[in-house]
Amino acid sequence: MTVEKKDPRPAIFLDRDGTIIEEIGYIDDPEKVQLLPGAVEALRIFRQLRFWILVLSNQSGVARGFFPESRVGAVNQRLQEQLRAQGVEVDAFYYCPHHPQAAVPAYRVECDCRKPRPGMIQQAMREFPVVLDRSVIIGDRYSDVEAGKRLNLTAILVLTGYGANEYSLYGQDASRTQPDFVARDLLEAAHWVENRL
Ligand SMILES: [Mg+2]
Ligand SMILES: [Zn+2]
Repeated sequence: MTVEKKDPRPAIFLDRDGTIIEEIGYIDDPEKVQLLPGAVEALRIFRQLRFWILVLSNQSGVARGFFPESRVGAVNQRLQEQLRAQGVEVDAFYYCPHHPQAAVPAYRVECDCRKPRPGMIQQAMREFPVVLDRSVIIGDRYSDVEAGKRLNLTAILVLTGYGANEYSLYGQDASRTQPDFVARDLLEAAHWVENRL
């Protein structure tokens, strides 16, 4: 499906690792891309609902010197190929390669894009006409929830990836920004979004 980029729409801002694909630590090898169960169906639902599908990923493995930035693109490309083979695709991938204590000096920066900061959302909004007040962020970490909430987005925590652990640590913590919904996985999140419209 070709997407017309000038059409204002709400967006689904999606974390990648632990949300769409298996969380296996710092993923540097396209061969290791493994879609989570229900992820493709979830993306189909978001597409049917005419959301932008925008992926935002912290990739501090670059800053830590674990792998070059080109590997992030290779992994994203493999993910996109796997999705396209099943008739769905992501509209754009964004990532943050930085870390404030990076081993690699070029990436040692207090950037605005590392979640929980909302810089990647803001960057996406410069490139896509996003209707923000109907947009949703979905991820497996409280840093995803926080990034979205800084821009008043609806936020969903999924229990895949680090999600179950994060929820057990912070789910009752009043000092943490809490999600609007906690979903078993991306598909349950998609159904929640679908029913809420
Ligand atoms: Mg994640
Ligand atoms: Zn960054």
